[in-house]
Amino acid sequence: MKIAHAKARIVARFGQTCRLVTSSNEIIDCHIKKNIPAPVTGDWVEWEQSRRLVTAVLPRQSLLERMDKTGRCKPLAANMDQIMIVSAYKSPAIDTLLIDRYLLFSENQGIQAILVFNKHDLNSSSKPMSGIMNVYENLGYPCIQCSTVSGLNLDRLKGMITHHTTILVGQSGVGKSSILNAIAPEVQAPTSVLSAGIQQGQHTTTVATLYPVGNGGNVIDSPGVRQFTPCIQDWKAVEKGFIEIYQQAQYCRFNNCRHLQEQGCAVIESVRNNEISPARLDSYHHFLKKLS
Ligand code: GDP
Ligand code: ZN
Repeated sequence: MKIAHAKARIVARFGQTCRLVTSSNEIIDCHIKKNIPAPVTGDWVEWEQSRRLVTAVLPRQSLLERMDKTGRCKPLAANMDQIMIVSAYKSPAIDTLLIDRYLLFSENQGIQAILVFNKHDLNSSSKPMSGIMNVYENLGYPCIQCSTVSGLNLDRLKGMITHHTTILVGQSGVGKSSILNAIAPEVQAPTSVLSAGIQQGQHTTTVATLYPVGNGGNVIDSPGVRQFTPCIQDWKAVEKGFIEIYQQAQYCRFNNCRHLQEQGCAVIESVRNNEISPARLDSYHHFLKKLS
């Protein structure tokens, strides 16, 4: 007998069970077949309706892996094509190292990064802030100033999450929940009632969850996703995370140049010529040191 396998997407996983959304937008709780790679939120899977069983995880376009306290990489979510990195004009102060850490992740995964500068109502004429924004704008990252108080650019952000699977990250207090409530109120909607017959594991808010936000868009969110430490294994990955350094590295005298203080380093030369921001080079050195 031929068994019908349908395609669906994982909304959240709880141990050996998961919640998925079917091609007809039904939310169904399923078991996961033993001995297959564990699916994570955002994964596309094959499943058998009759047995309510996930049978295979389809190849991933991107993977968010978090470094746990013991330094091991744990898959957290898959198949996002966009990351929104939120900072605030004030309260809390901007953390560019954190922005660069998320960019490390997005560049290595080949996903689009959008930088959001919230709380524009508090201090829109801040000089240091426009300097920071200039650095990232010059690198080609869209930089959106917004405010959930004045409503500035919220429609623009809303437009940017349609047709994409987006993760929202940034320090606590920058306004991620406020932005999400404003641009995707559906995310606050209670999830479906658990299906009978499926033994559900712990249902904590730390589980990464995929929320549909209309027009084919999805947001993957959870505290664990918001403050993840990306898994970076080697210095080449660090270099790849800094697009301007990666690009300039081809002109260094030595092809294994790490842009520390080597002779003939084109990256250091570019910093001297004000073509690469010194703060970005410092940030790159910071992540390089973390590896050693
Ligand atoms: P999260 O921790 O990043 O999710 O941040 P929240 O959404 O919980 O917001 C943290 C605080 O900032 C709350 O007190 C919000 O009311 C406030 N807040 C959020 N957006 C803005 C904004 O655009 N302007 C101002 N002035 N306050 C904001
Ligand atoms: Zn170099």
